[in-house]
Amino acid sequence: MELTLYHFGRDEFRGWFDRCDPRLLILLDSLRHQWGQPIRISPADGAIGREMRDSISQHNIDKWGSVRAVDVYPEGVTNEHQAREFIDLAEQVGFTGIGVYPDWAGGIGFHLDVRVDAQPGKPAKWGAVNNENGVQRYVALSQALEMVA
Ligand SMILES: [Zn+2]
Repeated sequence: MELTLYHFGRDEFRGWFDRCDPRLLILLDSLRHQWGQPIRISPADGAIGREMRDSISQHNIDKWGSVRAVDVYPEGVTNEHQAREFIDLAEQVGFTGIGVYPDWAGGIGFHLDVRVDAQPGKPAKWGAVNNENGVQRYVALSQALEMVA
């Protein structure tokens, strides 16, 4: 399948484009369309595909045979309300895993995935924040959103 996206170039996926689940790419393009502002793929290592052998991470191509997750920084998210809007849109376009990470180095970040053990419209949702020692821990989405200034 030779996918062409409207809002993203292949090079933005740093070599992973052809190994991404087409659904991940199409939903990301749709979300970008609906959001109306640029969505930057995180420059961090592992923000797209990862080779993690048995890990159940949706980034792990070894486990799933394709990359089902991408970590992003959308423009226009600087407060809790905007973060909720972005999450709602991600849910509406059909992402089935949505995580919010207020403490990422690049600002408020989001994990988006197309896991198949959740239904579109009923995604898994979570947050992750850093504790006082800078160690990331998982929390309820609402708790992470409270950390978004
Ligand atoms: Zn992720």
